[in-house]
Amino acid sequence: MDYPAIFSATLGLHHPWHIVSVTFGRDERRMDIRLDVFLGNLFTCPCCGKPTPPCGFEEETWFHEDFFGYATYLNARVPQLQCSAGILSADRPWSRTGSRFSRLLPTGAVVTALAAGELEPGAEAGVPHSTSESRVSQPVPALALSRNC
Ligand SMILES: [Zn+2]
Repeated sequence: MDYPAIFSATLGLHHPWHIVSVTFGRDERRMDIRLDVFLGNLFTCPCCGKPTPPCGFEEETWFHEDFFGYATYLNARVPQLQCSAGILSADRPWSRTGSRFSRLLPTGAVVTALAAGELEPGAEAGVPHSTSESRVSQPVPALALSRNC
């Protein structure tokens, strides 16, 4: 079975997004999917809609508690785009409306976002923590982060 093709279609990936690797932990019912983008491409700015080259990348981790029967972690290098409103992340196909993936933020980022009023207190409740991650993470709904564009 061609797992990357099935997962790619389910996640809504399109060029230049692609799956680098998929690993299964069958005993712990865990799956880790590594995503990346091919370099040299433009991305549509989520603010103004202009095709924009990345000015950098940010590592992100997203979680789904039951993706094909597995607790699934998506690890992705997400392009950052410079716009008049600031630096914005390119749209992620797996975070579209209705997606059940939630972004995991480092604990420090959640504290900073709460202090800045960008997150609702308690927005991170309800999703289990990973005990095998190298860092402590807090889940945050994908649309809880505010944009000023
Ligand atoms: Zn823009």
